[in-house]
Amino acid sequence: MAIAIRALTGEDEAGFAEEAARGTPVLGLLAFLADRLGATDGSHGDAAASLTAGEAQALALRLRAAVLDGPMRVAFSCTMCGEKLDLALDPLSLLVSGEGGSRTRTIGAFRLTFQPIAVADILAAGAAATPREAALTVLDRCVSATDAQDAAIAPSDLPEDVLEEAAAHLLALEPQAETVIACACPTCNAALEAVLDPAQILAAELSAQARGVYAEVLAIASRTGWSEQAILSMPRLRRRGYAAALVGA
Ligand SMILES: [Zn+2]
Repeated sequence: MAIAIRALTGEDEAGFAEEAARGTPVLGLLAFLADRLGATDGSHGDAAASLTAGEAQALALRLRAAVLDGPMRVAFSCTMCGEKLDLALDPLSLLVSGEGGSRTRTIGAFRLTFQPIAVADILAAGAAATPREAALTVLDRCVSATDAQDAAIAPSDLPEDVLEEAAAHLLALEPQAETVIACACPTCNAALEAVLDPAQILAAELSAQARGVYAEVLAIASRTGWSEQAILSMPRLRRRGYAAALVGA
């Protein structure tokens, strides 16, 4: 997917903050931003739900690289010794390409057909009471199965071992669907894996930064007399440059 993403302006940042304040879920915020910045090719419209999970993750990583500078910071604790790790990651280095496996597979006596997980499937699973129920919701939506007699069977009625293999295959189908980083703990040397949600990270970063927009507009306007609209429509970097120059002046 070749996309050209224009620079972020204060209008975008303020719009994003207002959207977030309305309680729009993270994937909705991602779609909002992608549409504003022209990062979607139009084929998806505004329906983030129609993206596959991998497409949504890739979109979040590309947006992150395009609109904010510097590395993406990820903090988590070592599961063995509790050491706090703070990693600086290049979002584009987390992009993975390629398909992970076949759409059809025979497991035991069952013939299974797989559909990559879509954002809509994740949202549907969000209503589940337990992780197991959530997994079954996704499997029921993304996998169709027939038994040895060629009769359709609901994935949730499959034997446990078949179900487990089906779940693993479904996750592997789209490698980008789960963004995983692997590293060693600097203190105890344990091999660690962490699952990241790039959309969540981007939304948190933008929400934190949006707070500064109003202060910058106010500071620049009071010194220069420029209109709010003129300041908000500047590319973010230029506005921040003026604001920084004011502090130094
Ligand atoms: Zn450790």
